Amino acid sequence: MSLPSDIVSPLLAWYAKERRILPWREDPTPYHVWVSEIMLQQTRVETVIDYYHRFLERFPDVFSLAAADRDEVLAYWQGLGYYRRCEALHRGAAAVVSEYGGEIPADFESLLSLPGIGRYTAAAILSIGFGIAAPAVDGNVLRVVTRLMNRDDCIDDERTKRAVEGELREIIPEKEASAFTQALMDLGATVCLPGGAPLCSRCPWETLCAGKERWEELPRRKQKKSRAVEKRTVLLLCHEGAVALRKRPAKGLLANLWEFPNEEGNLTEAEISGRFRGPVAFLGKAKHVFTHREWHMTAFRVDLAEKTEEPGLLWVKKEEIAAYAIPSAFSFIKKEL
Ligand code: SF4
Repeated sequence: MSLPSDIVSPLLAWYAKERRILPWREDPTPYHVWVSEIMLQQTRVETVIDYYHRFLERFPDVFSLAAADRDEVLAYWQGLGYYRRCEALHRGAAAVVSEYGGEIPADFESLLSLPGIGRYTAAAILSIGFGIAAPAVDGNVLRVVTRLMNRDDCIDDERTKRAVEGELREIIPEKEASAFTQALMDLGATVCLPGGAPLCSRCPWETLCAGKERWEELPRRKQKKSRAVEKRTVLLLCHEGAVALRKRPAKGLLANLWEFPNEEGNLTEAEISGRFRGPVAFLGKAKHVFTHREWHMTAFRVDLAEKTEEPGLLWVKKEEIAAYAIPSAFSFIKKEL
């Protein structure tokens, strides 16, 4: 199968008029594209903009990022979630400095060998950052293409992704690779929408699209497994202006980040009172959704008469807590400080 080449010019003409103004597009160096694409994974554009500005101010190039302390980099990521991508970006910057003298490589295989860079990100860096004709295919692009072509291929199937990548490679214009890639991104984000009716009357492919009547059925997806639900009790342990933090294990969910002490199960106020000396107050309940599980949390504040000696706890002054990378699952506790 192949994509008709007459979809290219209307797409580029539409992009020239309707493109989104985004900070990483102002100066799309390979490093800027890399940072923005990693931040944008699973995260909304509006959320990323502020983080992007702050991150770039502190780490303006691959050298400053590579030389920075891991905890400081994570602190700049705090609240964006999916922290492994941040650690991978940091390790990737170190690899670019040590293996490529600080020059981000301009070839697909070298980019793929860097931590955290998959086919989509590699192609985005090549096409937007270097102007090389490499098609970047993610869920948005697959949705747009399968609707345009009225195809029932499952977009979670790696073969579908590879096939679409191959077809786009045939038509991506050599001289306008950057605009083509960004136009597809924008079309998926602003017109051929994922969670509701596509805005076909604004689409440059309206007259060419074979699947617009079937937008509710397309794209086809695999049935998702339901997420496991975990009940947890979170404790805000306080003593003389300091609170207790704990580092999470080096492997697994939210690895190496800081958290408020918590444990499995929903403990009662009486159970907590029996364990500590000092008044206990109920703080609230919160839910946090990860990719494969949900935490349903109940939180209590305990004002300790004296610091608990539990191993692994670090006592941090409240005003210094911003320096610790605490995942957004615990934002509802941080608000109490
Ligand atoms: S015409 Fe509608 S369904 Fe087809 S690609 Fe455009 S927005 Fe999507």
